[in-house]
Amino acid sequence: MPTRKTLTPEQKKKLASGKCVMTGCNGKLDKYRIICYKCKTKLYRLRHPVNFYYNQLKKGSKRRCIKFTLTLDQFEQFCFDTNYIQKVEKCADGYSLDRIDVKKGYEFGNLQVLTLSENSKKRHEVDYSKEDRYFEEEKEVKF
Ligand SMILES: [Zn+2]
Repeated sequence: MPTRKTLTPEQKKKLASGKCVMTGCNGKLDKYRIICYKCKTKLYRLRHPVNFYYNQLKKGSKRRCIKFTLTLDQFEQFCFDTNYIQKVEKCADGYSLDRIDVKKGYEFGNLQVLTLSENSKKRHEVDYSKEDRYFEEEKEVKF
């Protein structure tokens, strides 16, 4: 990640006009920042892919009120076993993380990698109304 001390003259010029210093980006900057939020997220993903996808998964399950008991270590193990991150980032077809049993939440042993087409096929076959979702009140306690 670039720091104020390592900026090139071009980057300094961009910074002076309030623009993100990353090459090819003209994103606006928040106060005291030198790279924009979008680039920051991208850099974080490059540096810490396991953490990035773990946080994304956790956020997504929270939004959909699905139980999430997977730990970062367990997710790391899952990524190692399935090559999940390489698959997600390199394959045009795309992969998604699927819960084998939709009545269960995101927990170790209940996850598999599906291609997006396999996943949408499953969406038609599985009764998601039986999904184990918790209620909003519970959410406060869980997270
Ligand atoms: Zn940027």
